[in-house]
Amino acid sequence: MCAKPSFIADEPQYFHKSILIVGGGPAGLATALMLAKRGWSNITILEQRATADYYEPDKSFNYLIDGRGQKFTDYLGITPNLAEIGVSTQEFYLTRMAPNGSRKSSKLPIVDPKRKTAYWITRKAFVRMLYEEIERNWQNCIKVLFDAKCVEINKISINNEEDKLDVVAQVGNDHVVRFEPSLLAGCDGLRSVVRNTLAEWDTSGLNKFQMQLFPSASAGLRYKVLSLPPKPPLAHSGEEYAVSEMAYIILGALRNRQRYLRLGLLPVKNPEEPRTANVITPPDHEIWELKDGEAIYSFFEKSFPQLPIRKILSPEEADRFAKSEGGYFPKPQYCPRLQFLLRHKPKSKDSSALGVMLLGDTIHCFPPDIGQGVNAALEDVCVLDEALSQSNDDISQALPLYESLRVADVKALIRLAQIAFPWQYGQAPFRTKLWSINFFLRLVLSRLLPFLFNPPAFFLIQNDQLSYQEILAKVKRTTQILYVLGLLLMCGLLVAGDRLLFASSHNI
Ligand SMILES: Cc1cc2nc3c(=O)[nH]c(=O)nc-3n(C[C@H](O)[C@H](O)[C@H](O)COP(=O)(O)OP(=O)(O)OC[C@H]3O[C@@H](n4cnc5c(N)ncnc54)[C@H](O)[C@@H]3O)c2cc1C
Repeated sequence: MCAKPSFIADEPQYFHKSILIVGGGPAGLATALMLAKRGWSNITILEQRATADYYEPDKSFNYLIDGRGQKFTDYLGITPNLAEIGVSTQEFYLTRMAPNGSRKSSKLPIVDPKRKTAYWITRKAFVRMLYEEIERNWQNCIKVLFDAKCVEINKISINNEEDKLDVVAQVGNDHVVRFEPSLLAGCDGLRSVVRNTLAEWDTSGLNKFQMQLFPSASAGLRYKVLSLPPKPPLAHSGEEYAVSEMAYIILGALRNRQRYLRLGLLPVKNPEEPRTANVITPPDHEIWELKDGEAIYSFFEKSFPQLPIRKILSPEEADRFAKSEGGYFPKPQYCPRLQFLLRHKPKSKDSSALGVMLLGDTIHCFPPDIGQGVNAALEDVCVLDEALSQSNDDISQALPLYESLRVADVKALIRLAQIAFPWQYGQAPFRTKLWSINFFLRLVLSRLLPFLFNPPAFFLIQNDQLSYQEILAKVKRTTQILYVLGLLLMCGLLVAGDRLLFASSHNI
């Protein structure tokens, strides 16, 4: 099915132009689906991985698709599919397991129950869901090429007046395919070849296609992911197993900062699906020195005396985990330009410009503290849809409009990623405590005096009716009020202290 508008006589010619999307992750697949739904045909996606749900142990993390991300699934009418294969936050329980085996289950307090239900889903299942939607309804207009890596993008000048795009892809081991798209979408993640090419083409000298990097307390932490069997046993008695739809935090027994470890298990819908546990540590943690499976067993048995480690971890997985290099949380960063128009000679109303647009991690990337990576990527796609609607799908207008509608929000998102929840990994217990005090102070004050104070950023982010800019403005306003109140309190204390001193020195 390729939905086309009914006014065929007026149908813009652009719909038949070829579109090439580099990257078949969430942003790339969603962009293709949005364009197909608008009526564009002739869409090709290049994905360097072998399949849509290709399993990479260190990328097997879970997404929380919230109301923001669901703007896209609603648009496509696939939110019911998400609800079917995801775990709802309405019924979300978290169990904390202490080293002595004691446990406490609770509904997650920082999930706002008044907001639209969000769904936990593995990356693999979400990407597969989008791909299946293409296969089911849009295969006439979207072609996905797997094992196809974009290796080069050229801008070829014609008569020194206009440019055309020439994209080179390596398909399989030794097959080279060239494309001449009218529209190119860079959805190829942080190390985007599309964005890097635009940075080379940009002659402004302003480095507008270079990522702007910002510090964060969680940037630089290292992570790797442990693959566990479905329903792993959680007690030595062998009588208790992890429930697939429940989340667990398993606290470690070793106290030293370079040895302390905790495991986080996020929920999965399918009880037969393997579980994963994220291991997130400072870069100088001892775990990075362990080079084989036996060393992992020995360290984990000391860390987690409450768990039957050898029943949970197969020797092969322990060895793979030891040898994995894992990854580093990136610094929060964004790209100031989101699009590039090539030189073109407008001949008629329909000879639209050629252009390149960027979406997803290609333009904003940050540590997973606020769970917004995939939601922001899906929102980019909705904003692009809005820009295309407002400009009747004319690329020369739509791409600059997309940038102007989106870039301020992208900047605000990066600032929120810096401040909202960076201390959650226990990397500095004192700072975590200070952060918690700030968080609960704002939460309590916003409940008591909602006209004066806003809830903390992490809470506001769950409100998909607010843009990232609006959220940041509310957070800043509360910070300013807190500063003023703090200042007034200090002045009051100084005056009171002064009076007390004066009174005691004059024996009043
Ligand atoms: C450890 C970790 C935990 C995370 N946790 C969360 C979370 O809890 N919640 C959340 O929302 N987000 C999370 N994220 C972020 C999230 O994964 C990204 O924001 C999201 O995947 C962005 O989607 P994307 O399609 O833009 O990019 P990607 O998912 O990176 O997809 C890019 C795709 O492009 C392909 N590609 C790259 N280069 C080429 C090329 N030259 N040719 C062809 N194909 C190419 C890649 O193979 C990949 O499939 C996490 C990230 C990490 C690293």
